[in-house]
Amino acid sequence: MSGERQRRGETGPAKILEYTVKCPVCGADMRVEEYIYDMPGVGKVILTSGRCPRCGYRFSNVGLAETRGPVKITYRVEKPDDVNALVIRAATATIRVPELGLEIKPGPAAQGYITTVEGIMLDFIDKLDFMCSEPDAPRDKCIEKRRELEKARDGAIPYTLELYDPEGASHIQSKKAVVTPLSRREEDREAGEDK
Ligand SMILES: [Zn+2]
Repeated sequence: MSGERQRRGETGPAKILEYTVKCPVCGADMRVEEYIYDMPGVGKVILTSGRCPRCGYRFSNVGLAETRGPVKITYRVEKPDDVNALVIRAATATIRVPELGLEIKPGPAAQGYITTVEGIMLDFIDKLDFMCSEPDAPRDKCIEKRRELEKARDGAIPYTLELYDPEGASHIQSKKAVVTPLSRREEDREAGEDK
């Protein structure tokens, strides 16, 4: 009680935790720090970051401080403005755009970050460019798909962004975002392979 400080007016992140983990790349001890940050319009957010002193590997994650268990967040893009919505993409989140056949699943070294819907579409464009840089990539299909993703990035075509997060730490900052808590069965299905 007596230790409670008046932080009114202070907006910077405050360190809440510090611990040591093994670097997933080289196995050296690396220090990880957690900060809590009161993000305007979003609420309390935990920022995690660490850097391996031996190999330089960086880890970072972000997520809501109050997690809600497994959730699916659905957000409909209908006009150019909609791509500016802020997205907290926790390391545990899977991102899907069913209409465009897009999916990013979190790998073992997945990181979390704060971005926008536009930033997520740029990620998909980067991934497409990488796949299309293969010598035997289907040239015509690559050009066609890139045009489609550029339209999606600009909010020029309608689509649905889905975030599935088993930890419920992800967030889309918009009144249009629909958060659906998932039952265990739905959670298994969301985590499973595509039908
Ligand atoms: Zn390392």
